[in-house]
Amino acid sequence: MALIDADDVGRRYGADPGVVALQHATLRVDHGDSVAVVGPSGSGKSTLLHILGCLDRPTSGTYRLDGVDTAGLDDHELARLRGERIGFVFQSFHLLAYRSALDNVMMAEVYQRRSRSGRRARALAALERVGLAHRADHLPASMSGGERQRVAIARAVVTAPPLLLCDEPTGNLDSATTARILALLDDLRRDGLTLVLITHDPVVAAHATRCVHIVDGILTEPSPNPARTAR
Ligand code: ADP
Ligand code: MG
Repeated sequence: MALIDADDVGRRYGADPGVVALQHATLRVDHGDSVAVVGPSGSGKSTLLHILGCLDRPTSGTYRLDGVDTAGLDDHELARLRGERIGFVFQSFHLLAYRSALDNVMMAEVYQRRSRSGRRARALAALERVGLAHRADHLPASMSGGERQRVAIARAVVTAPPLLLCDEPTGNLDSATTARILALLDDLRRDGLTLVLITHDPVVAAHATRCVHIVDGILTEPSPNPARTAR
């Protein structure tokens, strides 16, 4: 069973005529895939990611996450599905400025039903996973962009979601730092994480096993990337 199964999904903002941000999008993503989503500004990339991430709902079509038809869920159930199955990473990190790296990572579990007692240890392990255990007590302001993004990745994976959704995760980073983030994402994939990642960077897109294009809300997938399919 596919982890992501979007069938003929559309998203319209407003009515008559409104803005059709996404139309007839069909996308299946299996466990362990990594999919890059590329397209010009305003083409519907974030709209797609928000739907895949259960932050938003399609206005037409069907979206199943891990076999669950999201149309059948109320907002509370949708939020729970999101909390259990999905981690998010954004271009501008979205860290709380006046909280330590450790607090930022621990924060991800606040709305989870896991035991409070292990929260600190799990957050430290997640920071260890991204190579930042020694920076646990530091504030984001004292960290480099690459370090902040690694904290954000630790926060996204501390809850052990099967799916990681990234919106321009390396958009604010130089190429050396980008390479380090890509290596980290590779590690996480090797441990079974599935990745869907929006990017403008051809280097990042070439790193994925699949590349999906969006133009004017229409999604297409050219032939697979032969260099990467064996991974
Ligand atoms: P991208 O991420 O590729 O830059 P978006 O998915 O953010 O594109 O936007 C796709 C289209 O939908 C754009 O025309 C944008 O202006 C429009 N749009 C996005 N969000 C909204 C919204 N909340 N209300 C109205 N229009 C929106
Ligand atoms: Mg966007």
